[in-house]
Amino acid sequence: LPTQADVLIIGAGAAGLMCASVAGKRGRSVLVLDHANKVGKKILMSGGGRCNFTNLYTAPDNFYSENPHFCKSALARYTQWDFIALVEKHGIPYHEKTLGQLFCDNKSRDIVDLLLAECREAKAQIRTRCDIQRIEPLEPQGFAVHTSLGKVLCTSLVIATGGLSIPTMGATGYGYEVARQFGHNIIPTRAALVPFTLNQRALNRQQELPGTSLAVTASCAQGAFQEQMLFTHKGLSGPAVLQVSSHWKEGMPVTFDLAPGLDLSDWLAEQRSNKPETSLHTALAELWSKKLVQFFLHRNGLQTKPLKQYTDSELRTVAEKLQIWTLTPEGTEGYRTAEVTLGGVDTNEVSSRSMESMKQPGLYFIGEVLDVTGWLGGFNFQWAWASAHAAGGLV
Ligand code: FAD
Repeated sequence: LPTQADVLIIGAGAAGLMCASVAGKRGRSVLVLDHANKVGKKILMSGGGRCNFTNLYTAPDNFYSENPHFCKSALARYTQWDFIALVEKHGIPYHEKTLGQLFCDNKSRDIVDLLLAECREAKAQIRTRCDIQRIEPLEPQGFAVHTSLGKVLCTSLVIATGGLSIPTMGATGYGYEVARQFGHNIIPTRAALVPFTLNQRALNRQQELPGTSLAVTASCAQGAFQEQMLFTHKGLSGPAVLQVSSHWKEGMPVTFDLAPGLDLSDWLAEQRSNKPETSLHTALAELWSKKLVQFFLHRNGLQTKPLKQYTDSELRTVAEKLQIWTLTPEGTEGYRTAEVTLGGVDTNEVSSRSMESMKQPGLYFIGEVLDVTGWLGGFNFQWAWASAHAAGGLV
């Protein structure tokens, strides 16, 4: 292990590797340390193995933070177009899947290889299987970082240890610990982009449904997302549910519009005039699979009869019951499966230009460890790239 570096980065994930390459190319000597057995594990498992590495429509509105202005500067100075140019420079094939989400055509490994190639070009050194034991601030500047591989002296220290999700992949709360050591406030953390769990009674009712999905608009508090919802053995998942989970807190109801963009009452009235003999469940099978129709009817205690036998007001009541489903999840699957962590190092005490701590000169926080959390769709990686680039240019 080198005993000295201009810049020591803890965490060889998305943000840490990006920062290492930017700082190294400025001529700084850079060392990246990670306790895991290999680098970029979350990148490798991201996007179902194809890494949704950015989003064409990235904007500050796609991020949650107690301090919503904080992310603007870094996102503006290193945009999705900058990262796309880097992907193209490395000849990595990619495609837009939906809603501006860019994925690798092949494997997430392409993005890790891109970062490692950039780090090699920047002569940044990387060591894995290295436990950080203690950080000691030095006078008048710099740090001594005590590790399982020895002591390293550095001028700038960058914390890029990410959030708490998927502990089995090496996630730890170490970044928050370092922040506390230097007097930083931590915005309480919470699992986000995470499936909901339901109570046993609700699960019994939907036991035929796991694996079934449908388009919905899911809303909770200020959030509303039109996307797919998926029934699971534990509850509900799919992009609409993951997105709305970032707005959810214990005990809050979540509302699903099960026929987004449609006025079910008008639609059923139209079906009644076109096909009066058709029964309600047959008509509904045009919107939902048979299993779902049965489930929604049964859940609302609704019988089915030919449409012509419904009065206008009956049809309206049926439509209202069927279209809007409100439920209170029992909980979430938690950090075990969450894609991200809400909250983190309070950005009011960090420079939005450089990501440097306002409490401890030379200390930087980048990526998910900060209280900046993106929506589902490539925004979390774009934040990792942008915040890392901002710090990398100044460390
Ligand atoms: P990470 O990439 O998590 O890197 C942190 C690094 O720090 C890790 O290498 C870790 O081993 C290391 N570390 C942690 N603690 C210590 C310690 N004590 N000592 C030394 N090293 C330590 N985002 C998207 O934008 N698109 C996606 O497609 C996407 N898919 C995802 C799928 C899954 C299953 C998950 C869990 C997340 C996904 N995300 C996705 C979110 C995204 O992976 C993260 O937001 C992003 O990786 C954060 O980058 P980071 O560098 O801050 O942290």
